[in-house]
Order: sequence, then C-alpha cells, then structure tokens
Amino acid sequence: MKKRAILLGCAGSIGRSSLDVLDGLADEWDVAGLATGSRGGVLTQLARRYRPQAVALANPQRVEDMRAGLPPGVRLFHGPAAAVELLDAVECDCVIAAIAGAASLPATLRAVELGRRVALANKESLVMAGEMLMALARRTGAEIIPVDSEHSAVFQAVHAGRVEDVRRIVLTASGGPFRTWPREKLRAATVAQALNHPTWDMGPKITIDSATMMNKALEVIEAHRLFDLPVDRIEVAVHPESIVHSMVEFRDGSVIAQLGAPDMRTPIQYALTYPVRRECPAKRLNLLDVGRLTFEPPDFERFPALRLGYEAARSGGTSGAALNAGNEAAVALFREGAIGFTDIAALTERALKEHAWTATPDVDELLRVDRWARDKVIQCTMSLRE
Ligand code: MG
Repeated sequence: MKKRAILLGCAGSIGRSSLDVLDGLADEWDVAGLATGSRGGVLTQLARRYRPQAVALANPQRVEDMRAGLPPGVRLFHGPAAAVELLDAVECDCVIAAIAGAASLPATLRAVELGRRVALANKESLVMAGEMLMALARRTGAEIIPVDSEHSAVFQAVHAGRVEDVRRIVLTASGGPFRTWPREKLRAATVAQALNHPTWDMGPKITIDSATMMNKALEVIEAHRLFDLPVDRIEVAVHPESIVHSMVEFRDGSVIAQLGAPDMRTPIQYALTYPVRRECPAKRLNLLDVGRLTFEPPDFERFPALRLGYEAARSGGTSGAALNAGNEAAVALFREGAIGFTDIAALTERALKEHAWTATPDVDELLRVDRWARDKVIQCTMSLRE
C-alpha cells in the first residue's frame, strides 16, 4: 500500500514544490488531501489531477460552485476550520504543513495531536507556540521534521553526532537584496526592491522577511524550539551564495554542514522520505561552478529585526506570538505602501515590547496576543500619518 500525504497550503510556493516532489515519488506516495486558504480554482484543478480523498478551502467564494467543480467522490471541507476537519477525516503518513503565517497554527497543532509525521514548512507555528508544539509531539510521538532549509540542514547535520554533544549551530542567511545597502538608503527601499531576492524564489511574505532579516529572527526562535538549544548557542552567519544551508558544531570542534543548490524540493523530499534518501528533481550543486563560498557577520544595526528575534527567544512565553503577528501586520502595511521599509522592524518592536507578556500561554492566549499585536501595529501606523 502506498503512503499518503496531506498537503496543507497546496497553492503557494512550497505547495507547488511539494507536488513536484510527490510527482517524483508517485510510486510510493499518494496525495490523500489538499488544503488552501482562498484559491478555490487552483484547488479544483489539483483535485482533478491528484484525486485526493478530500480537499479543504478556508475562505470559499461560492461553496456550491466549488463542490460542482470537484471530481466525484472528493469530499469538500470549507470554512475557517476546514484544514483541521480534513486532518480528522483523512488518515495519512505525513502532513506537509505549508500554510503561510499564523493561520497555520490550528492545523499544525492538530496534525501533531494526531501523532502524524509533520513536514513543517511553516515556521510561524513554532515561533508562536513552539514550546506547546514540541511538548505535544513528545506526548503523541509525532515526528516534526523541518522543511525550512536551514533547519533541515541542522536536522541532517545533527545526525552526525548526538544532540547532547552539539556546542552551537550556525544558521546561514543570504542577507537578502539589501545586504550591502547603507542604513539611510534602506529607509526608501521599495516593495519591488524588497521582493527581488538574489538567490531564493519564495512567496512574497517570506521574501520581504528575508530583506528585513526578520526571516532569520524567526528562524533563530524556530531552531531554539526544534533543537531545544539555548539561544546563545545559535548564531547567524551571512552567506550570500546560499549554498551552505546551515552548520552544526560538536563538542570536539567538528563542524558538519549541509550543502545544496537553493531549491526547496530537497528539504521537502527529505522530510517525506527520512531516513531514506531518493532521487530528487531539485537542482544539483556543482561547487566548481560556484567557485567560492563567503561568510560575513550579520549587521544588527542595519537589520534590527534580527535582534528582536534573539530578544523574543530569550523572553519566551507570548513573545514569539507578538513578534510574529506584529511583523505579519507590518509587512502587509509595507506591501500596501502605508509604511516605509524600516518601519517594519520599528513597529514590530513596539508590538513585542508593549504586549502584555505571560510565561505559559495557552492557544487562546496566544491568539489574543496575535490579534492585539496586529491591532497595535495598525494603530501606530495611523498615528504615524497624523
Ligand atoms: Mg529558511
């Protein structure tokens, strides 16, 4: 019998790469379920092609049209809890969690609660609720396998030793499109410039996070939770070539790195097939073509978002939720042209610093902080304009 994958977030960039990987593994894997937020047209097309048992659409335009477009026998779940209902209804061997942003938290929690293997492409759920997710996974036996390229690299490198022998991990960062820009110029950076990533082809939200280096800030928190390592043992190195995806230094001084072309299909496939490795459609790396690999320290002055990641990781509790939601709101405002590029980190910092912090929040508390931080960023933006 074939293994079954459920793909949450099938219409986005990770979703497309995941389907590419699943096409290559079609002798071994079936697509059992597909979920997306509001792109019903894409969902219908994919349902016709893959014939899953069920699909989920969080924000349907017209439910009856949607249902009529699906092939016979494919169940439709719709509404805000659709992805969770899909997980409850369809058995599977792996859930690829690739819904962008805080919206993915309920489904990620349910997948872990059900004890599934989770190929985790959504860092926000770990940033918001990492402690809770990891504790839940220990209880249910769910395997959380990171798809984020840096964390996949660390996950692969850690297997060269024992977790207790890790001295530090070094997360690499491309530095984004503004790596060499002076501080003054950053103020006037446009949306189009921020979306022009030098090495990775990703969705718009994460591409802007990469430009502010908030992406790396979120990844520091993600690594802290996933590998249960103190924050001061997680370092960031800017590596513009995006070939070394991250490194682990062990007690004896050995540094193990994972290298590859910047192509998300590699970490996605690894999360599905782990511990087995199979042929993969991802681009191949030829180091002779790359020629040289360079590394430089991150600049916390020009990219203050990175500092916020360390601060939020150290304070824990509700801080990750405040940081993440503040940033999501600020990035949306930047994309609308309502705020400048450097306002993103400044507004996010206010949301982080001014929220009512608690140490051991439950999901409701996290969602309250999430809403509060979004409102705070919007209020601050309105007062900026007055
Ligand atoms: Mg990453």
